[in-house]
Amino acid sequence: MSIMTDFQSLGLSETLLKAVEDEGYTTPTPVQVQSIPPLLDGRDVLGVAQTGTGKTAAFALPVLQIMERRRTQGKRYIRALILSPTRELAAQIDERFDAYSKNMDIRHRVIFGGVKQNPQVRDLNKGLDILVATPGRLLDLIGQGFIDLSKVEFFVLDEADRMLDMGFIRDIEKVLKLLPKKRQNLLFSATMPKSIAKLAGSFLNNAVMVDVSPKEMTVDRIEQKIMFLRKADKRRLLVKLIKEQKVERGIVFTRTKHGANRLVKQLGQSNLSAAAIHGNKSQGARTKALAGFKDGTIPILVATDIASRGIDVEGITHVFNYDLPNEPESYIHRIGRTARAGRSGIAYAFCDDTESGYLVGIQQLIGQEIPVDSQHEFHFIGAIPKPGQKPGKVKDSSGTKKRPRNNNSNNSRGQNQNRPRRNSNNNQGNRGGNRSNTTRNNNNNNTTRNNNNSNTIRNNNNNSNNSNHRRRSNSSNRNRNEN
Ligand code: AMP
Repeated sequence: MSIMTDFQSLGLSETLLKAVEDEGYTTPTPVQVQSIPPLLDGRDVLGVAQTGTGKTAAFALPVLQIMERRRTQGKRYIRALILSPTRELAAQIDERFDAYSKNMDIRHRVIFGGVKQNPQVRDLNKGLDILVATPGRLLDLIGQGFIDLSKVEFFVLDEADRMLDMGFIRDIEKVLKLLPKKRQNLLFSATMPKSIAKLAGSFLNNAVMVDVSPKEMTVDRIEQKIMFLRKADKRRLLVKLIKEQKVERGIVFTRTKHGANRLVKQLGQSNLSAAAIHGNKSQGARTKALAGFKDGTIPILVATDIASRGIDVEGITHVFNYDLPNEPESYIHRIGRTARAGRSGIAYAFCDDTESGYLVGIQQLIGQEIPVDSQHEFHFIGAIPKPGQKPGKVKDSSGTKKRPRNNNSNNSRGQNQNRPRRNSNNNQGNRGGNRSNTTRNNNNNNTTRNNNNSNTIRNNNNNSNNSNHRRRSNSSNRNRNEN
């Protein structure tokens, strides 16, 4: 049906086609199919796509091509600015620019905080064409007079929703003020809450909307299991599973940084080598942990949601939701760490009696019930959601409300539920309503490297199932301090 099934038909230059081929890409992903032609035409693009969909190439390739087409004379100046929320993601974007521009006369660089500024300043002074940056260090170096953004032709705001979650809105506004009026803009976000739509409206001009939403991920290739248990048993179950299954590359998700650190220690006591990655770790520690994880010397990475964003490590066989995320979307991001590049993977979710409401929210979002493993020795029926239970947190013992009196009964839990998430009542209709869409999406293999089917791409293009994203608007700030 669609003729746009190869990179040639997207209008890319020979140089870039060669680079793409050298990377081993044979088929463009949906976000690439949808974004590259309008970007080459000079349009702004608003992309609802998360890491793992191939969005970096979707913006990097056309940006490089136009830069090559419109060469400049004299000393290099920053023509493209890519803003990214985390250091890891920024580094990965820069790595991608390296791969795609290797046959071109392009100088690019990544700058982020947590490391010395001198090498960054040196490269800036030499002149750059493309700058990839996190907001803090960018503004810092602008303040010191090392960066001039007045000639930027392309502005890319990547992972915009995370940017806002992490409190970068002011910084983004400051940066926007320093850019010239005439420029091409791209905004990518995994979700499209109102706050992002507003931000997009403030600087995109007549943008083409590209939507490859997270629910289109191949959750069907990921085996999922939910295990009900008491909080106190989580560690033992985790150790048991890791040992029994001889996990060589697995990610464990905790809700808090402190929880991640504690768990790494505890795993160590059980002779399991693990490293934590979260926002409080120094850049050195994060790079080291990631390198060890990539080369296989550290089999287990314990991560918080924000820190794990954009970690693109292949061959992750296991994802453990040690704590269930309070944002249902995060569950999809987490399990998407495995089963990449056409492989399969398994995602375990541990659910204790305070988390059953989160499970309800997750299952509503993904439109399916996660299969229960009740055969493990720690199985605890008190953690199973009650029929009709609403999504949201159930107070635990540290809360002010009553605890469940009887561990083996479900009866008391209903009263102990915390206030449902803001909006949850309003959202319920939506959630139910979207269920069929979600299920339908499970049939679409939208993962990078895997989508060779033009019909599938078509379907994805036509799928304007955005309501799930929009309705998440009020909850985006909740996690900020936890990660
Ligand atoms: P991204 O979503 O940009 O982080 O990309 C995720 C991964 O997919 C990266 O490792 C890319 O190298 C890879 N990738 C991007 N585009 C393609 C493609 N068309 N075919 C295969 N792999 C790709």
